[in-house]
Amino acid sequence: MSNIETFRQDVRRWLDANCPPHMRTPMPQDEMPGGGRRAQYKHPETKVWLDNMAEKGWTVPTWPVKYGGGGLDKEQNQVLQEELRRINARPALFGMGISMIGPALLEFGTEEQKAEHLPKIARGQIWWCQGYSEPNAGSDLASLKTSAVENGDEYIINGSKIWTSGADHADWIFCLVRTDPRAPKHDGITFILFDIDQPGVTVKPILLISGMSPFCETFFDNARALKKNVVGEVNKGWTVAKRLLQYDHINAGGTHGLSLTPYDRPIEAPGANAKPIIDPSVGRMSTVSTTRSLPSVGQPARQNMTGTRRS
Ligand SMILES: Cc1cc2nc3c(=O)[nH]c(=O)nc-3n(C[C@H](O)[C@H](O)[C@H](O)COP(=O)(O)OP(=O)(O)OC[C@H]3O[C@@H](n4cnc5c(N)ncnc54)[C@H](O)[C@@H]3O)c2cc1C
Repeated sequence: MSNIETFRQDVRRWLDANCPPHMRTPMPQDEMPGGGRRAQYKHPETKVWLDNMAEKGWTVPTWPVKYGGGGLDKEQNQVLQEELRRINARPALFGMGISMIGPALLEFGTEEQKAEHLPKIARGQIWWCQGYSEPNAGSDLASLKTSAVENGDEYIINGSKIWTSGADHADWIFCLVRTDPRAPKHDGITFILFDIDQPGVTVKPILLISGMSPFCETFFDNARALKKNVVGEVNKGWTVAKRLLQYDHINAGGTHGLSLTPYDRPIEAPGANAKPIIDPSVGRMSTVSTTRSLPSVGQPARQNMTGTRRS
């Protein structure tokens, strides 16, 4: 038997023993496994499955073992994905941690940053959000104005972000800040990470017409970020920012680690008997989850997210 066939048999045996039965059934939105400090698991097997996969390194199968990954090569990972699909296994973990900031740290992070952040991402311990867009910096992202001013071993951050998906559930943010206001706009931007559970950060969910709040406004009022959490070079954050967006786009249309299981296959074109997208009985639009609106499920929102400052 070839090495890869032996590997496939090992994977099958391991999945038989470690993928709980409920994790082989269709996944409702409120059981999606996002992780994070405040994660609640509606079904206990969701957590068992996450822990089993994280222990094996298979929440991030191709990451190095020393950072919590499985150390698999491309061919082995393909076999693993095939075997997961064969048993209709749900994803053990999803989110911007494994799909966006993790890969960016693997490429640009210092050894200290990798050792600190990657294992927590792989185990689903920290929920991440993305602080790029601002009210006057959307398509023209390089116009962003959120400022970061040096203060000893920290930066003091002031400004605001918008469309921050899942910020009301998140623990940490990867954020673009302006560190040199005199430089041409694509220069003078720095990519930095910080914990948003601090007094200088306020998160306000944006209520959509559907009744959902997948996005937030995020305000920084003398928020603090340690200099050691600058990713890449100071004033060269644009390079990291662009690369991270490539991971987002590569990632199966931005599903943040959710594989195409039978439960989230592409939507079929409506047939003659299709239901209307507006449900006339309730007058609400039916919601089709978009890639970056996913984080709002399976996680309890913070209680103080009505625009007041966090404590
Ligand atoms: C599902 C989803 C999730 C998101 N999650 C996040 C997130 O987590 N974090 C984050 O930072 N951002 C997030 N965003 C924001 C997103 O990535 C874009 O930055 C943002 O939607 C674009 O900015 P805007 O809405 O201000 O649009 P604008 O920049 O105001 O653009 C509005 C319209 O004008 C057009 N336009 C703009 N400039 C020009 C021009 N010069 N010439 C011609 N047409 C122009 C645009 O194409 C667009 O149609 C999310 C967006 C979506 C849809």
